[in-house]
This record gives sequence, C-alpha cells and structure tokens, in this order.
Amino acid sequence: MGKLNVAMLRYLTREDFRVLTAIEMGMKNHELVPATLAASIANLHHGGVHKILKELCKHRLLSYERGKHYDGYRLTNTGYDYLALKTLTSRQLISSFGNQIGVGKESNIYVVADSDDKPICLKLHRLGRTCFRNLKEKRDYHGRRHKAGWLYLSRISATKEYAYMVALSKRDFPVPKPIDVNRHCVLMELVDGHPLCRLYEVESVENLYDDLMNLIVRFAQHGVIHGDFNEFNIMINNEEKPIVIDFPQMMSFSHPNAEMYFDRDVNCIREFFKKRFNYESHLYPTFEDVVREEFLDVEVSASGFTKNMDQLLLHEIGMINNIEEGCDEESDFYDSEKEEVEHLAKRVDELMNEESSTVLGNSSVPHSQEKFDNLKSD
Ligand code: ADP
Ligand code: MG
Repeated sequence: MGKLNVAMLRYLTREDFRVLTAIEMGMKNHELVPATLAASIANLHHGGVHKILKELCKHRLLSYERGKHYDGYRLTNTGYDYLALKTLTSRQLISSFGNQIGVGKESNIYVVADSDDKPICLKLHRLGRTCFRNLKEKRDYHGRRHKAGWLYLSRISATKEYAYMVALSKRDFPVPKPIDVNRHCVLMELVDGHPLCRLYEVESVENLYDDLMNLIVRFAQHGVIHGDFNEFNIMINNEEKPIVIDFPQMMSFSHPNAEMYFDRDVNCIREFFKKRFNYESHLYPTFEDVVREEFLDVEVSASGFTKNMDQLLLHEIGMINNIEEGCDEESDFYDSEKEEVEHLAKRVDELMNEESSTVLGNSSVPHSQEKFDNLKSD
C-alpha cells in the first residue's frame, strides 16, 4: 500500500483539467468519448485538444481504446481520482496527501491532512469495475450500446455514504464526522482506534456487547439497518467505545428484506463474541421488538439520493436481486449531439468556475446542495 501519487495535480494546467472534465462529462453517455466530441464539450481548438489528450494518456489519467464501433478516450480510475482531489484541494479541505491505510471490498482509504495539517480520512469508492453484473447495456442517440457506468456507481455510493453520515452524526450516533464529498470521494474524520477484528482483550466484554446490540436497535428505531455490521466496520477507541463506519449498503427499516439484514447484523456480533471472547448471551434484539420512532431513511431519500439510485447501488453491492426497469440510467438523454454538447459544455464551465472561485479564497460557501446537483440529470 503506497502513497497517492498526486504530484501531477500541480503540473496539470487549467486546459488539461478542462479536457479531463470534458471526458468525464462525455462518459455520462458514451463508453468511449471520441476526440472531436471531447473538443466540442471542452470548447477548445481541436488541434490543441489532441495534444492534451495524448499527454493525459501518457500520464494514465485517460486511456485510448478501440471500441467495436468507434474509438475514443475514457477516464481511468486515476483520472477520476485527480478530478475529485483537485476539487477538494481547491476547496482548501486537503493540504497534503499521506499513506493508504486500508483497502476495503469496494474502496481505498487514505490519510490526508486538512488545512490545519490535522490528519483526516479520505475514502475513494470503487464500484462496478470488476463485476460482470454491471454490464447492462444502454444506448445513446446514435443507437450505440454501452454499459451502466462505474463512474456513476462509485459516485452514488459516496453520495449515499456521506448523506447517511450527515444524518447519523446529527443525531449523535458514534460515526466519523463527515467533512465533504466530491464525485466518488468522501472526506471524514479519522477515527482514533482500531477495527474490532484486531481487539483481543477488553475490559468488559458484556459492556461492549451491549453497546453494539444497542446500536443496532437504535439504528432500527431511526428507520435504518447498517447491513454490514461486522468486526471490520466497527472501530474501537481507547475508551473501548465503538465507532461505526462504512455505509453504502445501509437499508431502510421498511425494505422488504429488512428483517433478514437486521438478523444478519445481530448474528455477526453474536458469532464474533462467541468465537473471539467465548461470550454468549441469551439477550439479543429481534426485529419484532423494535419500535420504529424516527425516519432517517426518509430524510436521506428526500435529500436527493433517490430510490432509483439506491436500488441500483444495493443491486450492485449484491444486497437485492432485482431492480425496476430504468434504475440503471443516469438519465441524461439527448436528441442530438448538438444538444448534448451544449448541455455538457455548460456543465464543464460551471465545474471550472467553482474551482477558480474557491481558489480565490471563497471556500467557505456551503457545498451541500452541489453534492446532490452533481447527481441529478439537470
Ligand atoms: P469498505 O467499504 O471498502 O469496506 P470501509 O469504510 O469499511 O471500506 O474502510 C476500510 C478500512 O479502512 C476499515 O476497516 C478501517 O480499517 C479503515 N477506515 C475506514 N474509515 C476510517 C476512518 N474514518 N478512520 C480510520 N480508519 C478508517
Ligand atoms: Mg468495510
């Protein structure tokens, strides 16, 4: 596990970022973005764009590929990382980059420093890259087929995680304090502690067990189920108190499969305590016992993270088997290339403007609305 290679952030020019952003926009509807389309969206001269595209490929921010029907460019993981990190840096939320501290199933985790040089946690969501479930096809206005995008999946995963973290920390749940989100990246407080899986000795096994079961119940009373409540997603601090992480799979208490996932969370803890501490209790919560009192799930979906996005994400993670037709679309559909170019060129301008205004010291403006605007088809 190494450092995030971010030296390049400094060397890329504004035009480089403009072209990179244009490819990102183009990828909403194209698996591969042809150079001419990139040039139109970036609103730059074709000759200049060609040179920049070649340069970006050399640095592996883009790759050039031969498709079945046409050739073009696509953003690499690194390219997408750069776009998000550039934005978070220009908001003055990150001042330097540190080491990778974790590789999850669906993420990479780094320590970075905030503007006061305090270490904070950066989680990069990575979905839909290695998995064939993802290869659903859709068509653009030329009738060309392409696949539901990993860009979109990673972005909605980060957005969901951030939305839940905001709602949970507002209610004083023990979760890392969320700082900001952009694209597929969530910035949050760095937990001072270790994952439960590394805990072998504990002052009071009973107290810890009770704390964890009470947390599951409190989640449910607020209308949600964590869905992956295991020893890897529970951090333990010096006071032996749990801090819960990892929220993309969270699920509403009123979901048809809610009871199954509630029981699974409870059983994970029971099994772990049995194996690790030889501790068994006849006391554990059941689904029927829970009285739902709050509607945190409704609050999150009202904030812009729609039911369709949630279905797509839960399906991708393997929590649900079927999704309704149309859920897998980012829903930017255009009647013509002209319409697409006009719309996307406007978006590129907006994104570039956000950066220059924040660089000029305007970084205190709240970004919360933009988080969700990013996701809408506007
Ligand atoms: P994934 O969804 O890929 O499982 P997680 O959010 O569970 O990702 O993070 C993976 C690992 O990174 C965790 O097990 C933990 O060790 C570490 N980690 C994640 N978030 C934090 C944080 N806020 N503070 C400290 N460590 C963290
Ligand atoms: Mg995890």
